[in-house]
Amino acid sequence: MDTLLKVYDLVLKNGWVIDPSQSLNGRFDVAIDNGRIAAISNRLPPHRAKQTVAVNNLIICPGLIDLHTHVYRGTTIFGLNADDIGINAGITTVVDQGSCGYLTFQGFKSNVVDKAQTDVRSFPLVNQGPDGKSGNAGVGIQSPELVDKEALIELAEKYPKIVRGFKVHGESGSISRWGMGVLKLARELGDKTGLPLYVHTGELFRVDEDFRPNPEDVVEKLLSYMKSGDLLAHCYSSKPDGLMGTATKVPDSVMEAVQRGVLLDLGHGLNFSFEIADRMMSQGVLPDVISSDVHGDFETPYNDSFLKYSLCGAISKLMALGLDLVSAIASVTINPARVLKAEAEIGTLQIGSRADITILELLQGDWLFHDSQGKQLGAKQKLMPVWVVRAGQLIQPNCHFLRDLNEKVG
Ligand SMILES: [Zn+2]
Repeated sequence: MDTLLKVYDLVLKNGWVIDPSQSLNGRFDVAIDNGRIAAISNRLPPHRAKQTVAVNNLIICPGLIDLHTHVYRGTTIFGLNADDIGINAGITTVVDQGSCGYLTFQGFKSNVVDKAQTDVRSFPLVNQGPDGKSGNAGVGIQSPELVDKEALIELAEKYPKIVRGFKVHGESGSISRWGMGVLKLARELGDKTGLPLYVHTGELFRVDEDFRPNPEDVVEKLLSYMKSGDLLAHCYSSKPDGLMGTATKVPDSVMEAVQRGVLLDLGHGLNFSFEIADRMMSQGVLPDVISSDVHGDFETPYNDSFLKYSLCGAISKLMALGLDLVSAIASVTINPARVLKAEAEIGTLQIGSRADITILELLQGDWLFHDSQGKQLGAKQKLMPVWVVRAGQLIQPNCHFLRDLNEKVG
């Protein structure tokens, strides 16, 4: 009889499965075979498993996706190692936002995508300079003259699995110099390829003061170039030209954009404000996607000592601000998977999908979080990754870059 028993590579036993893609929220065993999800059941039929892990009291969810990272290490001075902030931070898929352009994509593919154990995707920067410079190259990278539409379309066609959208900046520095030229070209690219635009908001580049746009008009201007499925990054930014600016009521233009399907991404980074988040969330404006925008220092090469935030930290902070656990998990699994149009493969635990899984512990206690302005927020819960499964392989993350979760109270 023994020969008739189903044999699995790995069984995760008695976990708390949260998979918003299938509205699953309960106690289940998850069986993995041949790098795929083989079964989810509250009682697996008699079977043998090469490896069984009891995950009692831990959350099993689809492998986390971080939609905004910078991992072109070696070419950009602020790029991080993809596996350090990927699998070693509990994340199975990372998306690099704009660290490469069409001229430097090949290096990104061979040095990062092909080498990392983490699944790495890219939104190339639409206006990266002809010298291949990316990163803090000053105002040069903003010019619409640097956009080679044909080359970018070709890149997207040649690498459909990796290139899943385009990164563009919509902030006061670039608008003061180039008006809406880059956005206009990005729109054409989006229309031609059917890929989403990921639009940075909040002042970033040096502003030509003679032509500084009215901060309250900036987001409204951007939105006229954005369609359903495009993303506004840094939705809770403290910058005056961000979504909220200094307003107390969420601007009508932002409300209308949300209604017509423009998506909001946290993009934690250096401008996340608890106060703005609180103001917008209390008016019902929640993030569709939670991402980290992890990167090293822009000025000092390969210096990550300033990195004090993480994806699991960002999720925990939004939960402390009132976001419920299931919505929080959706915003790092199925929602970004849909942005990548990869929801048949990732962001889900559906039978047959790739076995990319994150196992989290929901810790109870007293913690203190900080936003990018140093404001404090008390929290009673935090989410820490315990294991990841990447294409069926069980890995213990080293959590080196989860500094915001490792801080003690006080
Ligand atoms: Zn970024």
